[in-house]
Amino acid sequence: MKNDILINLKEVHNRIENACRLSGRNPDEVSLLLATKTVSAEKICIAIEAGETLIGENKMQELRDKDSDLKDLGVERHFIGHLQTNKIKDVLKYVTCIQSLDRLSLAEELDRQLQNQGRTLDVFVQVNTSYEESKFGLPPEEVLAFIKKIKEYKTLNIKGLMTIGLLDVDKEKMQPSLRLLKTIRDEIYNAKIEGLETLKLSMGMSQDLELAIAEGSNMVRIGTSIFGNRFLGKEIWNENIAE
Ligand SMILES: *Cc1c(COP(=O)(O)O)cnc(C)c1O
Repeated sequence: MKNDILINLKEVHNRIENACRLSGRNPDEVSLLLATKTVSAEKICIAIEAGETLIGENKMQELRDKDSDLKDLGVERHFIGHLQTNKIKDVLKYVTCIQSLDRLSLAEELDRQLQNQGRTLDVFVQVNTSYEESKFGLPPEEVLAFIKKIKEYKTLNIKGLMTIGLLDVDKEKMQPSLRLLKTIRDEIYNAKIEGLETLKLSMGMSQDLELAIAEGSNMVRIGTSIFGNRFLGKEIWNENIAE
């Protein structure tokens, strides 16, 4: 098991470097987030020992269950799943960033609780770039107005945009949603909003890592290619569903 994870990790880093080389980008511009839903703390620790520093979880329950094993390892934890308002309090105990900010009510409640705690939080705005009904995220047309609104919440540091692109065996079908995220960022840049001069793009998963990097990704979120398939009776890659 240990060897598999180490070999897979190396392979993923190679894929990132190759994709950067092909698109003339510096690999330092692209960070790797380990998407660790359903992955045991033991397996996550193997990757951390190998030098990984960033993990993303989709569920509060898993953050809590793995916390005692991970909390002292200096690893940065992000929340990347759909977040219900009643789970905010617990999630905030474990993470420094929420990548799935997708509605005003969530921003409001986050701000309220963060103010109470006297702290700030990094956030990514999640965009539904594939317009699939099964996916969370703001419709692309609403992102600029949304960003302008949540900029008023001083407890939220807007770090960038996140998307789960359309996944398909066909490259041609996957590319548009990834490209759209960058277009939305350009739109925000063009609006010249103070404090939003640099925004990261969190996009690219096991299946579309190379394409995402070619389209400008700054953070790829990889699970399957490192830890293997997640089976819970069936493969559930998109358990980006409500808890
Ligand atoms: C599961 C998940 C990933 C990683 O997907 P893989 O296909 O396993 O690499 C990335 N982002 C989010 C939001 C996820 O839920």
